[in-house]
Amino acid sequence: MNKHILIVGGGYVGLYTALRLQRKLHRELRSGEARITIIDPQSYMTYQPFLPEAAAGNLSPRHMVAPLRRILPKARILNGTVTQVNHAERVVTFQPAEGEPRQVAYDVIVMAAGSISRTLPIPGLTDIGIGFKTVGEAIALRNRVLHLLDVAESTDDPEVRRRALTFVVVGAGFAGVEALAELEDMAKDSTRYYRNITPKDLRWVLVEATNRVLPEVGPEMGKWTLEQLRERGIECKLDTRLESCEGGHVVLSDGSEFDAETLVWTAGVKPSPVVNAGDLPLDERGRIKATTALTVAGTTDAFTAGDAAGVPDVTNPGQYCAPNAQHAVRQAKVLADNIVRRLRGQELVEYRHKYVGSVAGLGLHQGVANVYGVKLRGFPAWFMHRTYHLSRVPTLNRKVRVVVDWTLALFFKRETISLGEMEHPRDGFRAAVATTRR
Ligand SMILES: Cc1cc2nc3c(=O)[nH]c(=O)nc-3n(C[C@H](O)[C@H](O)[C@H](O)COP(=O)(O)OP(=O)(O)OC[C@H]3O[C@@H](n4cnc5c(N)ncnc54)[C@H](O)[C@@H]3O)c2cc1C
Repeated sequence: MNKHILIVGGGYVGLYTALRLQRKLHRELRSGEARITIIDPQSYMTYQPFLPEAAAGNLSPRHMVAPLRRILPKARILNGTVTQVNHAERVVTFQPAEGEPRQVAYDVIVMAAGSISRTLPIPGLTDIGIGFKTVGEAIALRNRVLHLLDVAESTDDPEVRRRALTFVVVGAGFAGVEALAELEDMAKDSTRYYRNITPKDLRWVLVEATNRVLPEVGPEMGKWTLEQLRERGIECKLDTRLESCEGGHVVLSDGSEFDAETLVWTAGVKPSPVVNAGDLPLDERGRIKATTALTVAGTTDAFTAGDAAGVPDVTNPGQYCAPNAQHAVRQAKVLADNIVRRLRGQELVEYRHKYVGSVAGLGLHQGVANVYGVKLRGFPAWFMHRTYHLSRVPTLNRKVRVVVDWTLALFFKRETISLGEMEHPRDGFRAAVATTRR
């Protein structure tokens, strides 16, 4: 058959599809009858639900990513981005990390490019806003929060101090609430090492345009989460929009105005721009139009799933599957099996999965869960959150590393050092060069 399967994106869908294909097509891969290529800017898959824990310093960032080349020895990994898909010609334009773009031909394509932050044209958002989707963003935020505690401790200027200690998170979904709760917990914990900062000096503001928090866990648990956050002193502003944040001056639709050095934007996601750069059909929300068998509508040899795809939810007619990891992992399994079925001339099967609910961490020993209708809060929910994600993180190697990180955190206090200088590694050397006499 000699088929080249090209996977665009090495995240949840890309990694799990390739893993399954590696197993199911092992004979064909060995004989050269099939080839798998994955294209992704990174050489690793990010386990995104662990981003908040990495930001809080409970997990090493290296342990929440899965190295593609090690896990997928039978696939070829190309680092760079796909900038154009020409499915009529069965070719994509590949922009490698270095050098000129080139064409990569395929027989079967899997569009698994996920999503990016959905932003709005809000004045100043690019001045201070930061997303929360990548390891880089999570670690930069951790460094930033800790650095700002240092700034606040070291200044005489009350305005600088107030601004440094004010943190805003926009968006009260999974990413926003978990990021806020973990970072607030870490910052509060860190104040014990500062002489003139107490937990009361920290101001955390959650801004949400609708009237609910964490819709993923249902209204009852969402309400409980809101109460929990408020009890912790976090200002939760519902039915409120960010109007502007020019130069760090935050203006909200409820009329309040204040200065903040940090603004985390987690108000939703939209499909990766590559879905729009080609000839694949899109649905009304700009996602790749998928069938229930995870093929791209109107094609036989293009497949899609995950955040980039609009997959009809057969358990909930008229609705689409939500963009989350639970669907992405399960879709990848069906998608890979359907590719194998297609190659063998067999009938494809439908993707069918009823959403079982969600778990969320709200800081050390705190969480909320609603799974199969069972509602948990506090420590049991936090424990469930950790156990569930441990069972899901790919490979035994990563699981062991995660358990070691958590175990160490039980016995030693967490690290509260800002390594922000890692973002500017040449500054010291440049300063040294500047002092050299000609
Ligand atoms: C902070 C956070 C917490 C979350 N927590 C949960 C949770 O607890 N439970 C849950 O179910 N879901 C959670 N999610 C959502 C979940 O992580 C996503 O739904 C899931 O990652 C989607 O999988 P995907 O494969 O579609 O996309 P991704 O996993 O994002 O993978 C997409 C990949 O495509 C690559 N890519 C993008 N563009 C291109 C291009 N042009 N060319 C090549 N490659 C490209 C990207 O680099 C990336 O590696 C969370 C998300 C975040 C951000």
